[in-house]
Amino acid sequence: MSDPHELTVLNPATEETVATVPAASAEDVDTAVVRALRAQARWAALAGADRARLLRRFADTVDAHLEELAQLEVREAGHTVGNARWEAGNARDLLLYAAGGAERLLGAQIPAPGGFNVTFHEPLGVVGVIAPWNFPMPIAAWGSFPALAAGNAVVLKPAETTPLTALRLAGLALEAGLPEHVFQVLPGHGHTAGRALVDHPDVAKIVFTGSTSTGREVMERCARLVKPVTLELGGKSPNVVFADADLEAALDPFSFLDNSGQDCCARTRVLVQESVLEEARAFLAEALAAVVVGDPADDKTQMGPLISRQQLDRVRSYVPEDAPALRGTAPEGPGFWFPPTVLTAERPDGRAAREEIFGPVAVLLPFADEADAVRLANDTPYGLSGSVWTRDLGRALRVSRAVRAGNLSVNSHSSVRYWTPFGGFKQSGLGRELGPDALTAFTETKNVFISTEGPAQ
Ligand code: NAD
Repeated sequence: MSDPHELTVLNPATEETVATVPAASAEDVDTAVVRALRAQARWAALAGADRARLLRRFADTVDAHLEELAQLEVREAGHTVGNARWEAGNARDLLLYAAGGAERLLGAQIPAPGGFNVTFHEPLGVVGVIAPWNFPMPIAAWGSFPALAAGNAVVLKPAETTPLTALRLAGLALEAGLPEHVFQVLPGHGHTAGRALVDHPDVAKIVFTGSTSTGREVMERCARLVKPVTLELGGKSPNVVFADADLEAALDPFSFLDNSGQDCCARTRVLVQESVLEEARAFLAEALAAVVVGDPADDKTQMGPLISRQQLDRVRSYVPEDAPALRGTAPEGPGFWFPPTVLTAERPDGRAAREEIFGPVAVLLPFADEADAVRLANDTPYGLSGSVWTRDLGRALRVSRAVRAGNLSVNSHSSVRYWTPFGGFKQSGLGRELGPDALTAFTETKNVFISTEGPAQ
C-alpha cells in the first residue's frame, strides 16, 4: 500500500526508486493559493517589460541547466535523452516567446459617440495548471509560462509519477529572480491536490492536460464556480496515406512510436489506400524490426520504456498474444517494456482502433477513396491531430479541411510548435494553448469608456 503523503518516483527503465517527494494535501494547496494571491498582485503591477526581463533571465537559467533537466526527464519519465534535451529546450524557448508577449499585450482603441473606448487585457489572478506524465516538462511550461507572462501567478500540480522536472523548474525560476510564490509547484495526487486546486474559489482558471475522463470531471467541477478551463485531452489521430504519397516518409513509425507512443498526437490509426496496402505492410514490418528499443540514456536508443507497470498492463490488454500484428522487439527483465506493434486485422470499430492506447501500438486500416478516408479519419470521438500524405495539393487541402481535428500536417508528421496554436476538436479538448494568442487565454478583456465631452456651455 503506497503512502498517501508521499510520491515515489521510479525510473521506468529499471524500476529503481529515483526519489520520494511529499504529496501536497488540500491544506497545502490552500496555503499555496493564499501566497500566490499576494505575489500575483505585485507581479501584475510590474511593467510588462520588467516581467519580460525576468522571464528572459528565467530562460537563460533554464538554458544553463538544460542537460541537468534533460537527465532528470530521462530518469523520471524514461524519455530518450535526445527527446529530453529537446523538451528542456522547448521550455526555454517558450519562456523567450512568452516574454515577448508580456511586452505586446495590446488592447484596442474603439471610437464611440462622445468619447472612445480602450480595452485592457487584465490578468486573471491565480491560475492552476494540472499536468500529465507523458511530457512533464513541455506541458508544465505550455500551461504556466504564458500565464506568468500575462501577469498571473501559477500553482502547478505535476503528475504523481513525474514531479521532478517541474520542481526543478520552480527552483530555477527563483534562482533567476522571479518573485517568491509567483510560480509554485505542488506535487500531489489528482484526487486530493488536483481536486483542491480545481475547487478552490481563489483559483481563477484551470489548465488541465490529461485523459478525457478526468478532463470531463474537471470541467464539471469548474462549472460550479463558472471557472474558465482549458482542456487538452486524449487523441486517436489518423495518418491518411494516399497511394501517390512518398510511402517511406508517410509510414515513418515514429509518427506513433515517439515517446513510446505516449503522445496525445500519436498517429495511431494508419489509414492506407487499398492499392498500396501490401507495400505499406511490408515497409512497416521492416521498419518496426529496425527500431532500437532500450536504455533511454543511450544516445543511440530510439524508443524507451512505458511510464509504469499500470500503463504496461493497459497497453498489453489491447494486444492479445495471437493478434495478427507486425512486431518489433523490446528488452526483457526489469523496466516497463513493450515492443513497437502494428495490429493488421483490427476492425475500424474494434477496441484498439477506437480507444486511446497510449503505447507503441497502431492499427492499420485500408480505405478505398478520398471520401472513405475522410469518413474513417472522422470516425472517432477525438479530434486532436492527424497527417495527410499525397502529392495532390488540392486533395491535401480538401482532406485537411475535412478532418475534424485541431492540428493537421500535410506531408509531415509535425504538430506542436510553441508559436502556433495547439488544441483539440470534439472530446480532445477545449480552448487553445501556445501560438500568438497564448497570453490572452490568461486574461479578461476589460472595456473602459472615456468621455471626451467638455463641461456644458
Ligand atoms: P490523468 O487524467 O490520469 O491525469 C492528468 C493529471 O490530472 C495528473 O496530474 C493527475 O494527478 C490529475 N488528476 C487526476 N484526477 C484528478 C481529479 N479528479 N481532479 C484534478 N486533477 C486530477 O492523465 P494521465 O494518464 O496523466 O495522462 C495521459 C492523458 O493525457 C492521455 O489521455 C493523453 O492523451 C492526455 N494528454 C493530452 C495532451 C493534449 O495536449 N491534448 C497532451 C498530453 C497528454
